[in-house]
Order: sequence, then structure tokens, then C-alpha cells
Amino acid sequence: MALIVQKFGGTSVGTVERIEQVADKVKKFREAGDDLVVVLSAMSGETNRLIDLAKQISDQPVPRELDVIVSTGEQVTIALLAMALMKRGVPAVSYTGNQVRILTDSAHNKARILQIDDQKIRGDLKAGKVVVVAGFQGVDEQGNITTLGRGGSDTTGVALAAALKADECQIYTDVDGVYTTDPRVVSQAQRLDKITFEEMLEMASLGSKVLQIRAVEFAGKYSVPLRVLHSFQEGPGTLITIDEEESMEQPIISGIAFNRDEAKLTIRGVPDTPGVAFKILGPISAANIEVDMIVQNVSHDNTTDFTFTVHRNDYDKAHKVLATTAQELNAREVVGDTNIAKVSIVGVGMRSHAGVASRMFEALAKESINIQMISTSEIKVSVVIEEKYLELAVRALHTAFELDAPARQGE
Ligand code: ADP
Ligand code: ASP
Ligand code: MG
Repeated sequence: MALIVQKFGGTSVGTVERIEQVADKVKKFREAGDDLVVVLSAMSGETNRLIDLAKQISDQPVPRELDVIVSTGEQVTIALLAMALMKRGVPAVSYTGNQVRILTDSAHNKARILQIDDQKIRGDLKAGKVVVVAGFQGVDEQGNITTLGRGGSDTTGVALAAALKADECQIYTDVDGVYTTDPRVVSQAQRLDKITFEEMLEMASLGSKVLQIRAVEFAGKYSVPLRVLHSFQEGPGTLITIDEEESMEQPIISGIAFNRDEAKLTIRGVPDTPGVAFKILGPISAANIEVDMIVQNVSHDNTTDFTFTVHRNDYDKAHKVLATTAQELNAREVVGDTNIAKVSIVGVGMRSHAGVASRMFEALAKESINIQMISTSEIKVSVVIEEKYLELAVRALHTAFELDAPARQGE
């Protein structure tokens, strides 16, 4: 008998009919003898609707109150599922984050889980109940409701699996696994049987929203066996593994990630003297703005251009901060661009292959796509390009690295 944590995402619980379907599925597992903890998201669209309500009152809702609002979405689905299970003769009980006691820090809207009290859940499991837990939420030391950031129910699932030492954490969603790239963008994308934690972490960090970054971090740290599966179709899904050696023929690239959420800022004509990078980025970080890619040009006439990217939501704020810095440094001008996108190739196979970046650049050149910025790490290469070429770039790279699914007959 296994202990399994199952997480169902927003579309999987998007209607009462779907919740009934989830209940049928959970019942089957239960009848096979497994102990089950089920973590749910809010109905799809609900979290956005709640955020929108808050924004009708205030452009920048007070983070604590926003958490009180957005945490309600999950409270609805957990009760509905518990009821649907009981209707099927399966004993069940639902809990909010506060009721389990999923203790987090106090960083509202992006809280981190610190500790989970597993006593109540263990008691219920022993009593033969399916325990249904609200994803995405917790409570801080002071008793304030917190939420874990968008997509945070994945992290609730993995954290519960770690706390309960579950045999597996299954993330059920609207695709049947992790693909070589977002299957909604590239129809030839292929499901991966396995992907390493390291690669999955890069994919998630670089924009593949199939799993929340923290969920992957948590699973890696606590060695939680993690699998992504389709909620309503049978299949093996994708296993996230620690073991790199398991696959005999490691492809060079495992996947392609992309992100439209960034914006670029350039400060032109700054003096090329020691400390200038700090003078530019110090105030940005003091304003709590995270910087992603950074490029400093080679200097002519003792001045240089300095470019970096930030989240698009932080663009206006960053532009203002940079304008002040530009005055102080006597810089020539500040220019910005919000129509950019980042495309990244990811794979542990890169470690043992030369020429991966140049193959990437060649594929982009063939499509006449200009590369604005480049950054690399051991297992990824990222480029910033004009946003309108994003889909073309992803498709071209998918083909260039031989990731396309073999054409089916008749196609
Ligand atoms: P849920 O509501 O179940 O949490 P999400 O929308 O958060 O679902 O995540 C699933 C979606 O992630 C898919 O519908 C797919 O469009 C997208 N996605 C992005 N990159 C990938 C990828 N590499 N593999 C699979 N899905 C991906
Ligand atoms: N409901 C939350 C969101 O939409 C959490 C989740 O679905 O994972 O971000
Ligand atoms: Mg999600």
C-alpha cells in the first residue's frame, strides 16, 4: 500500500463535472488500497477573477488582504471534492492551509513554506479518509493567511509529499507530461518519459509554467519522486528524476523554454569606471526589482552602454529608478523595450557537447532573427529576441535540435 499525494490543477477542477470526474479517479486509487492526500487548485480562471476584483478597489492591493481574497478559490474546490467523494461512499475531509497548518514566512503573495504539521493528516489517513488540502496557501506565525505565488499549488503538493514521505507526488494537469517545449506552441513537441530535476528546474525558471519553480526545488531537495500526468487520460506521464545516467542516449537538448514576461532597459553613455555596475544596479535592487540578464558593452571613448532585463511588471518602476541614476552619472540616455522575449535551450547533454550555442545561433540566423542578448550556464543557453519572432524561434530551434516528433502517416 502506497501513500500518494495527488495535485489537480485549475482546468482539472474547472467545473462541477470535472470535480466529479476527479472524485471517480481518486475513488479508483483508494479502492486499489492507496492512502491519498489530494491537493487542489482553484477552478481555472478563479484566481484571476479574484485578483481582478481586488484591482477594482485598488491598483496595488494591500498584499495581506489580497491573500485573504485569493485563498478563497481553493477553499471552494476542496469542499466540493470532499463532498463528491463522500457521495461515492469514500470517507473524506477537506482542510485549508491554515487548518493543516502549513506554516509559511510572512512574504505575502510569494510566501515560502517553512513547516507542515502532518499529525492531523496522518490521523485522518489512519482512519481511512482521503485528505483534501487547499493548494497555494498557508499561514504565518501570526496567523495571517499567505499564498505561495502563481502556480503555488504544485509546491503545496510537493511539500506535503516531502513532509509525509509519500511514495510519489503526482501532478495532474491538462497535458500528459512534460514536453520538449510547450505543446500549445509547437505541435511537434514530444512528451519526455523522464527529465532530470536540474533540467526541470531550468525549464521552470526559464518560463515553462507546467511546474512551479519552487515545487521542483523542493522535490529535488527532499528527493520527492515527482510525476506529471494528464488528469483524465491514462499514460505514464513524465518522471522527474535525479539520475542523469539512466537514459542511455542523452540528447544534447532536452527542451526549449520561453518567456514573454521580461523587458529590457539600457542606460547609454555611462562612464566606464570601477563601481559603475553597482551604481546602476544598486538602486534597482534597493527598489526590490529582480534583474535577470545583464550585458555591458565594450567601451569607446571611456563610456559604455549597460543593458539588463527585469520582469515586465517592474518595467515602469525600473525605468524611473534608472532615469534618476542616469542624471547622477551624467549618462547620455535611458531607453527601454517591452517587446522582447527570452528563448532558452536546456539540457544536461550540453556538458559533453561542443558547439551547442553556435548551432542555436545558426538556426536563428537562418530565420533572420536578431539576437539582442545572450547568457549561458552549464546546461542552458538563453537569448533575448524581438517578441514577434518568439514562436518562429522556438519552432526553428525545436527542428534544429532534432526534437520534432516523427511525422505520422498521412501528415
Ligand atoms: P495547472 O492548472 O494544471 O497547474 P498549468 O497551466 O499551470 O496547469 O500548466 C500546464 C500547461 O503548461 C500546459 O497546458 C502547457 O501549455 C504549459 N506548458 C509550458 N511548457 C510546457 C512543457 N514543456 N511541457 C508541458 N506543458 C507545458
Ligand atoms: N490557483 C493558483 C493560481 O492560479 C494556484 C495554482 O493553481 O497553482 O496561480
Ligand atoms: Mg500550474
